Amino acid sequence: MLSQGVLVLNRNWMAVHVCSVRRALSLVVQDYARIIADDYQIYDFNSWRELSKRIEHEGNDFIRTPSFRLLVPEVILLTVFGRMPPRTVKFNRRNIYVRDHHTCQYCGTKPPREELTIDHIVPRSRGGRSTWKNVVLACQSCNSRKGNQTLEKSGLTLVRPPKKPHWMATLRNTLRGPDRPLWQKFVDAAYWNVTLED
Ligand SMILES: [Zn+2]
Repeated sequence: MLSQGVLVLNRNWMAVHVCSVRRALSLVVQDYARIIADDYQIYDFNSWRELSKRIEHEGNDFIRTPSFRLLVPEVILLTVFGRMPPRTVKFNRRNIYVRDHHTCQYCGTKPPREELTIDHIVPRSRGGRSTWKNVVLACQSCNSRKGNQTLEKSGLTLVRPPKKPHWMATLRNTLRGPDRPLWQKFVDAAYWNVTLED
């Protein structure tokens, strides 16, 4: 229960992180964060403790201590800057696969994982770099068709232009657990408001 994920919003109500319940509560106790309930009401530790007393048992998760019980928070709002810097997405093989949905970005097929390769759109031999905007997943046949040519020369087209994914896009795939309707509200907002990086 204590290691369950809590969505962290910064002072502008933008989702910036996911932390454990334990970490979230410690931020709240220290007054670095408040808890957001599903009606968007904001609680500090004491008022959350009061609310937890009144709330029905059924359908809710509680943390129990010898003297009181606490509703498990789902979303917290930071009250100070710098407590939790925004997450960034690591540029690595795993996240490229997640971003491209295990799908060849030239023909749209979804072959077995071991038949997918990471292709440089501008080939390395032509100075192409390993960046979010220059690498995509490709099936073996598209990869060999493209070879060392530029995209234009190869006659291939991209399913979608590659870009750096939002950190939540890679997180979503690793998070397993109960449905979080409250998260969804902030996650969707984060998707729409995200600034597109290089
Ligand atoms: Zn392909």
